[in-house]
Amino acid sequence: MTKDEANFLRHGVAKLLALHRDGLTPEVALTEIALFIDSHDEKPINMIIFCPNPLCNSQHIDRVTEDWSNPAHRSHKCEFCGCIFRFADTATNGVAKIETIGKNDNWSIDGDRRI
Ligand SMILES: [Zn+2]
Ligand SMILES: [Zn+2]
Repeated sequence: MTKDEANFLRHGVAKLLALHRDGLTPEVALTEIALFIDSHDEKPINMIIFCPNPLCNSQHIDRVTEDWSNPAHRSHKCEFCGCIFRFADTATNGVAKIETIGKNDNWSIDGDRRI
């Protein structure tokens, strides 16, 4: 769960508690939370993924193609060597690059290697 997701849920619970204290029906807040859960269920985590086969090590990038709608998935199949693997107990999405870089990172997918 991201910080934004945790904040949304924390805010939703606080709102429900306030409504409960005021004796009001928390239907709107419950609907908001239910919609949020539906839209974030099995939301894959964007990751830089490389095939674990040492003879291959190709980058795995998930994308929609003619015969693959790219639904949320845990196990990935390398398009080059056929290795099927998972790196997490949750859905992950292989991306070309991620959005952030740490200030002390000494490797990035963009080739920014400082080691
Ligand atoms: Zn995949
Ligand atoms: Zn491979």
